[in-house]
Amino acid sequence: MLSGLKDRVQVKTILNTESHLEGKEVTLAGWVYNRRAHGNLLFIDLRDGTGIIQISIHKDKVPQKVFKDVERVTRESSVIAKGVVRSDRRAPGGYEIDLKDFHIEGLAEEWPLPIDAGVDVLFDKRHLHLRGEKQTLIMRVRATVFDAMREWFKQNSWTEVHPPIIISASVEGGATLFKMDYFGEVAYLTQSSQFYLEAMIQSLEKVYCINPSFRSEKSKTPRHLTEFWMAEAEAAWMDLEDITRVEEQLVSYICQVVAERHRKDLETLGRNPDDIGSVKPPFDRISYREAIERIKKKGMKIDYGDDMGADEESKLTEDLHKPMFVLEYPKDLKAFYHLPKPSDPSIVMCGDCEAPEGYGEIIGGGQRIHDKDTLIKRIKEDKLKPADYEWYIDLRRYGTVPHSGFGLGVDRLVRWVCKLDHIRATIPFPRTMTRRVP
Ligand code: ATP
Ligand code: MG
Repeated sequence: MLSGLKDRVQVKTILNTESHLEGKEVTLAGWVYNRRAHGNLLFIDLRDGTGIIQISIHKDKVPQKVFKDVERVTRESSVIAKGVVRSDRRAPGGYEIDLKDFHIEGLAEEWPLPIDAGVDVLFDKRHLHLRGEKQTLIMRVRATVFDAMREWFKQNSWTEVHPPIIISASVEGGATLFKMDYFGEVAYLTQSSQFYLEAMIQSLEKVYCINPSFRSEKSKTPRHLTEFWMAEAEAAWMDLEDITRVEEQLVSYICQVVAERHRKDLETLGRNPDDIGSVKPPFDRISYREAIERIKKKGMKIDYGDDMGADEESKLTEDLHKPMFVLEYPKDLKAFYHLPKPSDPSIVMCGDCEAPEGYGEIIGGGQRIHDKDTLIKRIKEDKLKPADYEWYIDLRRYGTVPHSGFGLGVDRLVRWVCKLDHIRATIPFPRTMTRRVP
C-alpha cells in the first residue's frame, strides 16, 4: 500500500455512514474538482472514484504551509487530504471535512476545458472530459447495463460464448465492412456475431455474446457509431414470438435494475427514474404495414416498401412511454437470412424493438431460415455467392432446427435510458466517421 494512504477512506463511505465517522480523522485521496475562497476560509470539492465531498480550510487552524498549498492547488490536481469528519446540514452530502494536512501529488496545469467548451473541444479532450460528473454517472449506468444483461442471461440459463472479431464473410452486407490485411489475404472486422451464434446453438441451444461490432457507417446520425457494443443472442427451437418475448423481458430487466440502482444518478442526468422503472412487459407489437400507416398519419412522406430511417422512427415512437416492436417487414428491406412468412413470402419474420420518446431502434431480430434450399435461394436473390457462405449453409445440412435471435445495440439502450442527445456520450472513447482520436 502507498505510504500515507493507510487510513484512506473513500467519499462514499463517509457520506453513507450514519455519522459513525463523525469526529474521526480520515485520509482522503482524489482530485480537486473545484476550489472557492472566502477570505481566510477556503473550500475544496474533492472528487474520488465514489463521489464528491467538501473540505473546508481555516487559515487559523492549519499550518501555514498547508494553507499555502491549498491556495496554489489547481483544478484537477491530485491530492491527499487528512481531516476530521464533521456533519453539516448545508454541505451537499451532509458531511464535510475540516482539513488538517494536505499533500499535492500531481499539480495540474491549467484545465483546458472551459465551461463553455464546444462539443468538438470536449471530444478532442475526451480523456479529460470523462472526469466530469455527468460523464462519470453515464459510465456507471453503462456498467450496470452490462451487469444486468449478464445477470438476466445467467438467471435464464443462457450460455455466454466468445465469437471471433476477425471474420471473412459479412452478416450485414459488404458496404459497411472494415477491411484489413490478413497475411496478404483480406479479412474484416465483425459487424455481427450472429452466424457464429447460429453455429453454437446446435450444442448449447441458448447462447449470447457481448461484443464490439464494427461498421463503417457513413451516416452522421446521433445513433450510429463505427465501433459499438452489441449483445447478441440466438436460440434453437424458438420462433419470432418466442424471441420477441425474450427481448422484452431482457430490456425490462435492464430497466428495472438501472432504475433501482441508479435513482439519484438518473435524476442528475435529467431522466426521471420512474420512466425507466415502469418499463415492463408486454410491449406493444405492430406490423411494419401499421408502422408505415402511423408515420404517414403524422404527416411524413413514406410508402409501403420504404425503409424507416432515424426520422421516421423518431416520429413513430415520440409519444410512446415504453418500447414497441415493429414486426414482419418486406423481405427486400432485410438481410437474406430472415425466414419468409409461410403465408406470404414477400414478408419476413423479423422484428425490431423501438425505444420510446423518439429514440427509435435498439434491437433487430427475428426468426432465421433453417431450410437449406430456401437459404441458398435467398442468398442468390440478394446477388451474393453461396460459396462465400459454405459453412453457414452447412449448419442447415447437419441437423438444422428452427431458431431465432437478435442483436441489441447497448450504446443505443444507454442513450435512451440516460436520456442523452447523442450516442457518442454513452461510450468512453467514441468512434465515428470523423473521430478516432483520442
Ligand atoms: P440502423 O437501421 O439503425 O442502421 P441496423 O438495422 O443496421 O440499424 P442491426 O443490423 O439490426 O441494425 O443491428 C442490431 C442493433 O445494433 C440495432 O438495433 C442497433 O441497436 C445497433 N446498431 C446497429 N448499427 C449501429 C451503429 N452503427 N451504432 C450503434 N448501434 C448500432
Ligand atoms: Mg445500419
